[in-house]
Amino acid sequence: MTPNDQRPDSALDVALTDTLLKQAVLTTFKTVDLCSQIVSPRIEHAHELAKWGLKIARRDYDKNPERLMLLISPSSVANALAVWGSSKSDWIVLSDGLLLALQSKANQVAEKLASEQSWILETELLRSIQKVDTLTGLDTPVASFLYFAAVSFFVGHEAGHHVLGHDGYFRNGAHAEVSDQNSTPNVDSKLTKQALEFQADRYGVMVARVAMIGWLSRHWDVREYSAQERASYQWIIAFVMSVGALMALSVIKPRRIDWEAAYGREHPPGVLRMIQLLNALTESIKENFGLLGDKELETIRLEAIDLVAETTLVPGSPDHILFRDRLAREGRRAALRAIGLLQAIHDPNAASYIQKIANAFHEVTPLLNPRSRRFIEDLGVAPQ
Ligand SMILES: [Zn+2]
Repeated sequence: MTPNDQRPDSALDVALTDTLLKQAVLTTFKTVDLCSQIVSPRIEHAHELAKWGLKIARRDYDKNPERLMLLISPSSVANALAVWGSSKSDWIVLSDGLLLALQSKANQVAEKLASEQSWILETELLRSIQKVDTLTGLDTPVASFLYFAAVSFFVGHEAGHHVLGHDGYFRNGAHAEVSDQNSTPNVDSKLTKQALEFQADRYGVMVARVAMIGWLSRHWDVREYSAQERASYQWIIAFVMSVGALMALSVIKPRRIDWEAAYGREHPPGVLRMIQLLNALTESIKENFGLLGDKELETIRLEAIDLVAETTLVPGSPDHILFRDRLAREGRRAALRAIGLLQAIHDPNAASYIQKIANAFHEVTPLLNPRSRRFIEDLGVAPQ
């Protein structure tokens, strides 16, 4: 499986004429520069990796799939955008700052994986990944693969805003992942924006899963293996997909849940969004990895949280100090509880919050303009 070549220079040519794109990029990154792939090794291979997600999302365009395009801003500000351009293109814009943050997170998580879950590295699949080249800026092949999963999730998330027709709601023509939380005074519109975020996350999970399987199929031919080996293959993909997606999300400022404030935010509070993402991951694993049972699903969920949770905390912050202290004295579960993650999963407020989000999504659905009609049903935020 080889991704179709997207010629970045032709995307750049279109970008130069696109006034709405320039305006959105200038607002977010304070520069209109957009890179073709030759600017730096990081940007060059990010274009290569992103092609996988781009190709997958383009399949979901009933008409004119090439209108979905990707560019990278050389800005060091970590952010990602979906922009509906004046050229009628659907733009995905990632920044170099985001790529750098994802690389550092991938290195951190891969190191933790090697020290705490070393058995995973001994599986056939991971041994084959370790024969693959390490990308520039990544410490190991496993870190490179986690980075690929996270980039694919981001590309998929932004593509999700396009494929699912969120331009019907974002009338100003652009959506930034990190934005001023207080820019919209209307609580209803913030719930709607959070509902759309969840929906884009679910699409991102799908794109990351398909991209990873495509990428791996070059190295590991699953058809030649036994049922047990296939189950192991599914476990590893489901696990790495979960870690990659959670890792990507943790780059977008996770924080403790404050239920009162949660209703007033455009993006869902970090921890809650992480839980919703875990739910989306579990659903996706159930649907697509038939050899894994409920016990495996629960293990994957907890192990993935375990690996990523600590990297979401700012080193030296009060939460981080609390986490390290509990970890040393009472173990990992207690540490996760201390930073609010485990309570959040069982918080009684979560159910009513999720119901509000589902209602908000239901109300906004008629405004959306999906590039393929089937998406509203398939990817709706289901009431829980
Ligand atoms: Zn988004």
